Amino acid sequence: MRVLITGGAGFLGSHLSDRFLAEGHTVIAMDNLITGSTDNIAHLAGHPRFTFINHDVTNYIFVEGPLDAILHFASPASPVDYLELPIQTLKVGALGTHKALGLAKDKKARFLLASTSEIYGDPQVHPQPETYYGHVNTIGVRGVYDEAKRFAEAITMGYHRYHGVETRIVRIFNTYGPRMRLRDGRVVPNFIQQALRKEPLTCYGDGAQTRSFQYADDLVEGIYRLLHSDEVEPVNIGNPGEFTIKQFAEVINQLTDNPAGIVFKDQRTQDDPQVRQPDITKAKRVLGWEPRFDVEEGLRRTIPWFREELQRRGELS
Ligand code: UDP
Repeated sequence: MRVLITGGAGFLGSHLSDRFLAEGHTVIAMDNLITGSTDNIAHLAGHPRFTFINHDVTNYIFVEGPLDAILHFASPASPVDYLELPIQTLKVGALGTHKALGLAKDKKARFLLASTSEIYGDPQVHPQPETYYGHVNTIGVRGVYDEAKRFAEAITMGYHRYHGVETRIVRIFNTYGPRMRLRDGRVVPNFIQQALRKEPLTCYGDGAQTRSFQYADDLVEGIYRLLHSDEVEPVNIGNPGEFTIKQFAEVINQLTDNPAGIVFKDQRTQDDPQVRQPDITKAKRVLGWEPRFDVEEGLRRTIPWFREELQRRGELS
């Protein structure tokens, strides 16, 4: 297959590029590098089946030659990022998805949308199955991401129903692993860096809010299976192992032998979901997929990457 990955220089886009290349496919990674980085794909420079194009997908996308699949992963994805980049976040979810779907229609390519558990908002159903419609504050600060992704799902179904484009939608739950941006502000990079520096971990609020964290390789496997499946409607891909943020901080302190403990900070964003956990019954049934890495195994593979990255930058002795 010849595959276009938008957001290809991002955390997830770069892991997807690796996977598709390893399976023998040709990958074109497209990114405007506002939150992505060529550091994430530097190891692919010169690969005979890999190309990088610096382009903002909210503008008309031109790709020469045939395409078999388009994976639309371009978007700021951390709350700190989309709070700082509200217009770009809305544009890439709306205009960028429109352009990528137009390209898929033109090339007769299969289209896979990276959607998100954020479309469930601050959920009132727990855990969240795909049939839950969500509880989103349209005008809240997180609305720029949540509504852009909800629109992206709607236009994806529109192109499927009206134009017959073959589409897939993955709803991604909190994912971590090597190549997360050090300063993206999310809980995993924050906690790991604080722990490696032997500083206290900053729990926002009382730390009683929950998240369910999956390791990047599990997500990539789920996406690979979804693309090759016949499932048109959204599929949750996430690890159902649910932790309070305080428990999660304790796990990281334990794995890093950090004696500095936890501090509580009054820094939760508006509408920060109180709970989040995927119901993965559908992924199990239609994809035969379930996560393989529990949180400790995943973190044991992630922490050394952060340590090396901080040392490389001279930020950790
Ligand atoms: N959080 C925290 N300390 C941090 C960063 C985040 O306690 O240093 C909390 C945040 O308030 C949220 C959860 O961790 O409840 C997950 O936040 P993240 O930004 O990783 O992503 P989200 O799941 O909210 O999109």
